[in-house]
Amino acid sequence: MDIEDKVIAITGASSGIGEGTARLLAARGAKLMLGARRTDRLAALTDELNAAGGTVAFRSLDVTDRANFEAFITATEADYGRVDVLVNNAGLMPLSRFDSLKVDEWDRMIDVNIRGVLHGIAAALPRFKDQGSGQFVNISSIGGYAVWPNCGVYSATKYAVRAISEALRMEHDDIRVTIVAPGVVESELADTITDPVAAQAMVDFRAIALTPDAIARAIAYAVEQPTDVDVNTLIVRPVRST
Ligand code: NDP
Repeated sequence: MDIEDKVIAITGASSGIGEGTARLLAARGAKLMLGARRTDRLAALTDELNAAGGTVAFRSLDVTDRANFEAFITATEADYGRVDVLVNNAGLMPLSRFDSLKVDEWDRMIDVNIRGVLHGIAAALPRFKDQGSGQFVNISSIGGYAVWPNCGVYSATKYAVRAISEALRMEHDDIRVTIVAPGVVESELADTITDPVAAQAMVDFRAIALTPDAIARAIAYAVEQPTDVDVNTLIVRPVRST
């Protein structure tokens, strides 16, 4: 199946990597369903991509709400007849040291970065099994491979994305599971940091950021492989280090 025949649902498509991925995959002819909470942004992006010849729809999505995620995938199927790929991209990164006790932020990261991915799997997996094919592209991070101060909970969520993805792949011979682990990328992700020390620590790091298109190309590469090829993991970092 070529990419222009694929139906691809993308979470967190209202900014950053999700938006960049929507732009690239729409240009390559995939049929897209975009999800996020900021529907004004999704509406503007959808209009722009359709005006450029894309096939794009959107729907309000809060990945922490299982029923809402189920409705998102149901709507994708209703619009396009099937779902071939789910890009589990939505995420938050409010970094802080443990002793700042930002427990609500720990909970939010667990809810969005882990539960959100699980809700996506719960919604899409039965469809993929019925079809006998499907692909999850789960966005982890270099923070899913190494840990730094301020990053304990965020890294834990991104290690979890890897663990979930690896087991999911092992359990299914008919479903592709790709982990994409970006290094620093221009986006709104660091805007979720409320701890001033952690925010300052990100300033130098962000100076070397890749554009979202770099990650979008990695996602497209994994999606465009023949169906017998499962790209397991792609780690994509800037050449420069801080
Ligand atoms: P952005 O903050 O630009 O984008 C995050 C997206 O997630 C937004 O579209 C936001 O949409 C969405 N989102 C947040 N909460 C929810 C929710 N409850 N339900 C649905 N959507 C939600 O950051 P990035 O593009 O950088 O982040 C995308 C992914 O990439 C994340 O998983 C992040 O951890 C990962 N990543 C990013 C790196 C980077 O340096 N930028 C590096 C490594 C990994 P809305 O607010 O409209 O709901």
